[in-house]
Amino acid sequence: MEKNVMQQVFQYKVDAEGIATFTIDYPGKSMNVIDQAFIDGLNDCIRRAVADAQVIGAIITSAKDAFVAGADLLTMEANLDAGADDSVAIAFEKYASLSAVYRRLETCGKPIVAAINGVAMGGGFELCLACHHRVMSDASGVVVGLPEVQVGLLPGAGGTQRLPRMLGVLAALPWLLEGKTATAAKALEAGLVNAVAAPERLLATARQWLLDQPHSTQAWDQKGFKIPGGNPLDPRVAPGFVVGNTMIVAATQGNLPAPLAIQSCVYEGCLLPIDKGLRIESKYLLAVATLSPVSRSMIRTLFINKSRAEKGLHRPAAIAAFKCSKLGMVGAGMMGGGIALNAAQRGIDVVLIDRDQEAAMRGYGYAEKALAKQVQRGRLAQDKMDAILKRITPTTDYLLLRDAELVVEAVFEDRAVKAEVTRRLDAVLSPDCVLATNTSTLPISLLAQASIRPERFIGLHFFSPADRMPLVEVIRGQQTSDQTLARALDFVAQLKKTPIVVNDARGFFTSRFIGAFIDDAISMVAEGISPPLIDNCARQAGMPVGPLAITDELSIELSVHAGQSQAKEFGADYRPGRSVPVLQKLYALGRMGKKVGQGFYDYTDSGKRVWPGLALLFPPREAQPAPHDLKQRILYVQAIEAARAFAEGVLLAPADGDLGAILGVGFPAYTGGPFCYIDGIGLTAFVNEADRLADLFGEHLRPNELLREMAASGQTFYGPKAGPVPVP
Ligand code: NAD
Repeated sequence: MEKNVMQQVFQYKVDAEGIATFTIDYPGKSMNVIDQAFIDGLNDCIRRAVADAQVIGAIITSAKDAFVAGADLLTMEANLDAGADDSVAIAFEKYASLSAVYRRLETCGKPIVAAINGVAMGGGFELCLACHHRVMSDASGVVVGLPEVQVGLLPGAGGTQRLPRMLGVLAALPWLLEGKTATAAKALEAGLVNAVAAPERLLATARQWLLDQPHSTQAWDQKGFKIPGGNPLDPRVAPGFVVGNTMIVAATQGNLPAPLAIQSCVYEGCLLPIDKGLRIESKYLLAVATLSPVSRSMIRTLFINKSRAEKGLHRPAAIAAFKCSKLGMVGAGMMGGGIALNAAQRGIDVVLIDRDQEAAMRGYGYAEKALAKQVQRGRLAQDKMDAILKRITPTTDYLLLRDAELVVEAVFEDRAVKAEVTRRLDAVLSPDCVLATNTSTLPISLLAQASIRPERFIGLHFFSPADRMPLVEVIRGQQTSDQTLARALDFVAQLKKTPIVVNDARGFFTSRFIGAFIDDAISMVAEGISPPLIDNCARQAGMPVGPLAITDELSIELSVHAGQSQAKEFGADYRPGRSVPVLQKLYALGRMGKKVGQGFYDYTDSGKRVWPGLALLFPPREAQPAPHDLKQRILYVQAIEAARAFAEGVLLAPADGDLGAILGVGFPAYTGGPFCYIDGIGLTAFVNEADRLADLFGEHLRPNELLREMAASGQTFYGPKAGPVPVP
């Protein structure tokens, strides 16, 4: 049975002219992926083609829309657990097995041509690189590329060795390091493929090559082969590695092992014969996959859990699929304009409402400007832009919402203003219409009190800029019905965004999570920690922008006003953050942030410098903390906040926290999110380090009971030792 399934991954056939075709058609899957069955199937095809004297060469193609999507990351993640006890020698052979079969293919003695009929990514494209010739379909949407670096891996099936030998070292490096994809025209121009054909001519073009001018020895297997442009020691090439290393460290702060490993594969491997180079590549692949938690964490969150979320992880089953054809968008400000544009781009008609026509037009103007930029850059045709804009109706007329299927409210963050809008909406909306609020902090159940239909009320928290940010945090209020949740999730899918689902609480998950970071970082100023040290350590830990710089950017005034409105809203329940005294002092001095040129920094035409007066307000400590301790504090304070949100039932699953943290609020991707980060360190080590940081910096870094219990009982958030997910 096993054998049968394995063979079915490839269909093998030979025609009258002796041309074999290996057709990849993974049974029971919509996409071809690479796993052991794939490797065995390919091995089998090679063996048969070599053994049959009638066969003059072979075409490799796919029966599915895509050629091969890449390694099966799901299996790969599972294998990491299964192979945890493998010796290094056994693990090495496992990681080298795909590369070995590709090498067998290119040295089998018969010419092999890849007919790339659809998307060929990662190991799928590396299969094409191992063929002696590549013909690519020019159908729209067909791209090739090596995106492994994006999940913390490296092209480990020959990509780092064959591409430099084909294109030259310096031309190959960007394809390996950036994970960019290429259309047929680009791939031909760059030399990634040898020929391009219309889809209906693809197989004929491939066979013609086999009949006319086949060869079965790669250039690098011929005597006297020299890498085009020189090997890595060549004076034209060597400086590229020096610059490359510097650029990688600057871009990744040394947090991502894969880009440096890719450079090492190319540097070391290209000084040696290809067989040795391939072994070096396998060695680095094994290292990035198993020695650090980075690739496993990135695969888990950015691939596995992201696609689960998009496929409806938390969508209540048995509720009919919903498609929104008319959206109401109330509030045409920064968020409303972005959401309206996003919906119109997905073919949804949008009624965009604001207090007056001028304000509504501002939201429309946002969409117009964003689209015009795309047209200018040649990424969008003018007629498409016109069609998108035609779907947006800026108005003040609520009656136009009578047949809307879903409404998003994004007016001022003020409970009274939102309640007034809710009442106006309830008066016109159909009973079936979902009413979503884009509030970033106010509890949904509280806002729902203004509605006559709280079961239809839900939170859809978009991130700015709303037309581009990939995440929507879906917040279920106490009375939100299953049907409302299902519809909201279907709408998010229609927008092609990734949803997480959380329970209602102050700050939900994302605002609370980023809030813990910013609050702690600003309070460091009051502790006398040097401001540049705070911002630099945050960036070195992998945060996209320093917390003081981002507070200036968003405006200190806004932070102070948000605190004041929370105090008003929650009365005795309001607990001011430790950052409040710092922010209030700056506010009182008129230092409102970047928009007035003064905040934590002074802003001039030549750039920004820390405001010297800060040191007088908050005298610096004599002994500054070690950068390592500060970086730990910055990451730990967020991870601990995530663990608290999980323990309190705000998060339904660790995956929601990890996705929300990375896709929504910029927690570093190399960690895989706060829960992958804790698992990667190990619960016991994490708890011990958190205790050390709490002794050093304060009780807010003390781990909660959940973390202590998990450490004591040997549990993890993910993997075989994960405990049952608590159902809040
Ligand atoms: P904004 O000030 O840019 O836009 C608010 C718009 O609402 C304005 O155009 C205003 O004229 C309009 N408005 C006010 N009262 C109204 C009423 N009674 N009827 C109709 N329109 C009215 O604000 P924004 O940044 O777009 O934020 C809007 C909402 O989205 C807030 O709840 C905010 O917390 C939330 N949010 C903002 C961000 C962000 O980064 N800006 C991110 C997530 C969520």
